[in-house]
Amino acid sequence: MGLVVQKFGGTSVGDTNRIKNVALKVKKEIDAGNQVVVVVSAMAGVTNQLVQYCQEISENYSLEEYDVVVSTGEQVTIGLLAMALQALGVPAQSWTGWQIPFVTDNSASKARINQIEVEGLQACLKAGKVPVVAGFQGINAQGRITTLGRGGSDTSAVALAAVLKADRCDIYTDVDGVYTTDPRFVKNARKLDRVTYEEMLEMASLGAKVLQTRSVELAMKYQVNLRVVSSFENNPVGTTICDERDIVEKEIISGITCCRDEAKITLVGVQDKPGVSAAVFNAMAQANICIDMIVQSDSPDGSHTDMTFTLPEADLSRALSILDKDKEHIGYRAIISDSDCAKISLIGVGMRTHTGIAQRMFKALSEKGINVQTISTSEIKISVLIAAEYAELAVRALHNAFHLEKKEN
Ligand code: ADP
Ligand code: ASP
Ligand code: MG
Repeated sequence: MGLVVQKFGGTSVGDTNRIKNVALKVKKEIDAGNQVVVVVSAMAGVTNQLVQYCQEISENYSLEEYDVVVSTGEQVTIGLLAMALQALGVPAQSWTGWQIPFVTDNSASKARINQIEVEGLQACLKAGKVPVVAGFQGINAQGRITTLGRGGSDTSAVALAAVLKADRCDIYTDVDGVYTTDPRFVKNARKLDRVTYEEMLEMASLGAKVLQTRSVELAMKYQVNLRVVSSFENNPVGTTICDERDIVEKEIISGITCCRDEAKITLVGVQDKPGVSAAVFNAMAQANICIDMIVQSDSPDGSHTDMTFTLPEADLSRALSILDKDKEHIGYRAIISDSDCAKISLIGVGMRTHTGIAQRMFKALSEKGINVQTISTSEIKISVLIAAEYAELAVRALHNAFHLEKKEN
């Protein structure tokens, strides 16, 4: 008998009929002789609505209370799915994140899981019941509710699969796998049968929201056998996320991502002396703000230069007010910000062994008249920041330039 963790996202549990459909999928796995732990998200649109309520109350709402509000969506779906399973004759029991518990750190709204105590779940499984677990939520050491960041149910599922040493973790969603780029925007995007943990990690962190970044990190670390499959197919094959050595024919480029939630800050006239970058990025780190691209050139006069960096758009106003308060300490002349930008990235393990990728990328963008503002690279990715209005054009142009389209049968 195998142990399978099945995670169902918002669209998959979007209404009561869909929840009944999910119950059938869980039953099918049990009928195949497996033990199943189910993790669910809130019904589609519910978390967005809850976030909006918070925003309507105050511009400066407490993130601790935000966690209390947005975690409620998942509590509804665990109860409904447990009922739907019971109606099919499958014994089931709902579990909130704090009943298990998923013990997290204190970073409200983007907490990280420190530990999962699985004794209760194991007893539930042993009693022949299917545990139906609320994704996205946890509890901190002070006993307060936390959430794991948007899309965090993926991470709940993978973390459970790792701790329970599950044979498989299947992420059921509204697309039938991981594609070369978001199939909603590029109709001829191609489904990947397999993609490496490393590529998936870059794709997720650079904007492919099909899996939360942290879930891929955990899957890679604990070697979780992870698949992305469709909730709306009968015998889904999906995409397997695996080690590079398990892929015989590797792609040079596996994916293109687009992240529109980027913002750019330029500090004009920062002093060119030791300690300035440390002061800027220390302030950002203290505020739990993730910085991505950083560009600073030599100062022409040896005394002052400009520093540009990117960050999540959601953190822009907080970052600006911190930098404004620290102006004297950091020492800069002016600050410019821009949230009308998009980060487009090209990802593939083949970049390690193939040359000329960057040149092909820049050529394809320039042929469309798209100006590159900032560039950053790693061993397996190249990212560029461009004006937001060109985002879709850029993704399509690159998709064509690297021949990533669906192969005709
Ligand atoms: P769920 O609610 O099931 O967690 P999400 O909306 O979080 O689903 O993730 C699925 C969505 O991810 C798809 O509907 C698709 O539009 C988007 N997506 C973005 N990039 C990709 C990609 N490269 N491959 C597949 N889906 C992608
Ligand atoms: N319901 C949460 C969200 O919408 C978590 C998830 O769906 O994974 O972000
Ligand atoms: Mg998701």
